[in-house]
Amino acid sequence: MKFKIISKGDKRSNKIKSTIKQYLTDFELEYNREEPDLVISVGGDGTFLEAFHRYIHRLDKTAFIGVHTGHLGFYADYTPDELEKLIIEIAKTPFQIVEYPLLEVIIRGNSNEKEDHLLALNESMIKTAEGSVVFDVKIKGEHFETFRGDGICISTPSGSTAYNKALGGAIIHPSIEAIQLTEMASINNRVFRTIGSPLILPKHHTCLLEPKKDKSFLISIDHFTRTYHDVKSIQCRVAKERVRFARFRQFPFWNRVRDSFVADDKE
Ligand code: NAD
Repeated sequence: MKFKIISKGDKRSNKIKSTIKQYLTDFELEYNREEPDLVISVGGDGTFLEAFHRYIHRLDKTAFIGVHTGHLGFYADYTPDELEKLIIEIAKTPFQIVEYPLLEVIIRGNSNEKEDHLLALNESMIKTAEGSVVFDVKIKGEHFETFRGDGICISTPSGSTAYNKALGGAIIHPSIEAIQLTEMASINNRVFRTIGSPLILPKHHTCLLEPKKDKSFLISIDHFTRTYHDVKSIQCRVAKERVRFARFRQFPFWNRVRDSFVADDKE
């Protein structure tokens, strides 16, 4: 099996990276940057997102796993204490794969036929540098509402515990093939009205955002943000691609949610 390790770059993560690399090559596994079967991220969830985007071109072949060197991460869920066991498992046992849905975002320009196709593991956020965004929201081709506010966050089920949660969105089990739209400070008064609740769309229900005034947006995909000018539409739906997590032990999603967000009142 071929593997690659991506470190956050700090001293502790680099040291753990060297240890894993050394042991796995001693077990005669091949360190391969170009075509890894397994990518191990060492750091935090940000490092995991970076690893995911670095190998986004081979999602059908590469599986991911995360070791955290700070606080418990959602993707980086192995602790440095579990390292020895993890190394032996990677070297000796074929790993199980768990596949979860991703978000596809297609950004179309006004003046040319150019389309930008992007994939997010957590979410995409659409905002402007200044003022509020105004766009028509269409669901399955039908006008749903005209949104005015700070922006909209569209997240995957895996990303539902990230920025989406901070916006009051629901936590969705990642086995459910869906995307979630959450509002960022919508303007609601006698003139403007939005639904005001997060919307969960199933697979094949496409959401289209069509700008009404400004056509420039700050569009973020997971941890990186770009400015897009002259935007005609932003289309979001459940992607046909999926992310593959390597599983060496059980860590049920709801336990992860509990351990990350609920106070430990066992004592
Ligand atoms: P980062 O690494 O500083 O991450 C910010 C926090 O989000 C960290 O605590 C991380 O563990 C957590 N996080 C990331 N993905 C998560 C997930 N799927 N479930 C639960 N927690 C998750 O920031 P970054 O490197 O720029 O990473 C970008 C991601 O961080 C974004 O995709 C966004 O969802 C998240 N984020 C969340 C908030 C918030 O909750 N208010 C703010 C900023 C960024």
